[in-house]
Amino acid sequence: MSGINTKSLQRYNTFGIAAEAKEIVLLTALEQLEVIPQLESCLFIGGGSNILLTQDVNCTVVINKTRGICTVSEDDHDIELAVASGENWHDLVLWCVDNNYGGIENMSLIPGSVGAAPMQNIGAYGKEIKDVLTYVKVVNLKTRETIYLTNAECKFGYRDSIFKKDAKGQYFITEIGIRLTKKNHLLNTSYGDIENYLHQNGVTTPTIRDVSNAVIAIRQSKLPDPTELGNSGSFFKNPIIEQAHFDTLKAKFPEIKAIQL
Ligand SMILES: Cc1cc2nc3c(=O)[nH]c(=O)nc-3n(C[C@H](O)[C@H](O)[C@H](O)COP(=O)(O)OP(=O)(O)OC[C@H]3O[C@@H](n4cnc5c(N)ncnc54)[C@H](O)[C@@H]3O)c2cc1C
Repeated sequence: MSGINTKSLQRYNTFGIAAEAKEIVLLTALEQLEVIPQLESCLFIGGGSNILLTQDVNCTVVINKTRGICTVSEDDHDIELAVASGENWHDLVLWCVDNNYGGIENMSLIPGSVGAAPMQNIGAYGKEIKDVLTYVKVVNLKTRETIYLTNAECKFGYRDSIFKKDAKGQYFITEIGIRLTKKNHLLNTSYGDIENYLHQNGVTTPTIRDVSNAVIAIRQSKLPDPTELGNSGSFFKNPIIEQAHFDTLKAKFPEIKAIQL
């Protein structure tokens, strides 16, 4: 006896809740899905940073550990990457920054996996995954067929997608495609405190690394680290209002922040 509870989900959710699964499968290769009898009754977990386990889970829990990043196509200006859904999102951002691929640096330090990112169209500091996503590769949990969904087919909205609505519970996301810039990066530094951070640190011509560093520093100063204090980020969505309504509020509260959708 090792003394380790192999059915505990405690280490697989950022609240650190010690719920138990009927069975845990650590998915490192997609072929493992073939021997799971009823895929549609499984619970799929990436980083466990957007779930709250309120009780034991009476089904097979698949922990997504699939890995891999490869180039689909590239030219002088852009590169399209195919990324396995089990990759850690923030590690992907850092890898892209290291390689000078621009487009996701504003989403530095968002916890979780690449595969969960399209679920709610993750976003932060003026950027969302829909801005760079080219396709989502999925396995239909009922038919086991693999299909590709285009960006448009994902019906992205503010923290929203088809995976939360019409296609809820239908697919396991196995891979995503993202198109990033290799030069002349379109930096977005106007949102939140990024400009202030760059100014305070004497950065006048920012690079994607500067933006990533700014976002990391700002997030670390604001948000609790789930490894120290269990949490799952925000429990709210920002309200979407008409421009005229925003203008009235801005006149009253000049500090108020917004982005144009
Ligand atoms: C401190 C903190 C800060 C955060 N900040 C932000 C933020 O700035 N912006 C933002 O958008 N979000 C934020 N979040 C939320 C979270 O990071 C995202 O929702 C993230 O995409 C969750 O990824 P995950 O792998 O942890 O998902 P999980 O919690 O593992 O899963 C979430 C849901 O997606 C499903 N799922 C997971 N992987 C797959 C897959 N491959 N295929 C099909 N279904 C799948 C699960 O079954 C579950 O229903 C934050 C969370 C924390 C803890």
